[in-house]
Amino acid sequence: MMGQPGDRAIAPGSLALVQGFVNSVTIETGQDEFADPEDMAAWLFRNGLGELRPDPLDRRDAVTLREALRALLRENNGGDPDPEAHRTVAHVARDCPLVVTGSLGLGPAMTDMRGALATVLASVALAVADGSWRRLKACGEPRCEWIFYDRSRNRGSRWCSMAVCGSRAKMRVYRQARRASR
Ligand SMILES: [Zn+2]
Repeated sequence: MMGQPGDRAIAPGSLALVQGFVNSVTIETGQDEFADPEDMAAWLFRNGLGELRPDPLDRRDAVTLREALRALLRENNGGDPDPEAHRTVAHVARDCPLVVTGSLGLGPAMTDMRGALATVLASVALAVADGSWRRLKACGEPRCEWIFYDRSRNRGSRWCSMAVCGSRAKMRVYRQARRASR
């Protein structure tokens, strides 16, 4: 997770795992670290989620959860509420139980792929509880949707990078205004 757009720092604590999970695909280029089960296994291992052998159905579940989380992170950036995404998260979570661990945190009940997704979901729940969740956002530029952590005091950042996505959005507004005035 080096070189975030706009020189932003990654999200704090275990929320960085959620950020990396959703950013496993770069929407703009289509480059997807979950493109097949082997790629996904490598990502899971690199991110401390264990040495797993996901099958194509596991991959589908992970991508389903990833895109539902992206929809929730659009909400955090002023997007419309997405009840379907909330239902999808709840649906995936039903198969991914969490338990209280010896250190009195939440941890996965399973050590397989369900456990890996449970670890991601536990990090979401923890971030909602400590308030950091609302600062994690999908970039407001539809072509991008990169997940960034908004450290601004007023929680008002809309784009992953003001210089790239912010100026694209402004250029579009400018062009639309010109077209409308002609
Ligand atoms: Zn962006």
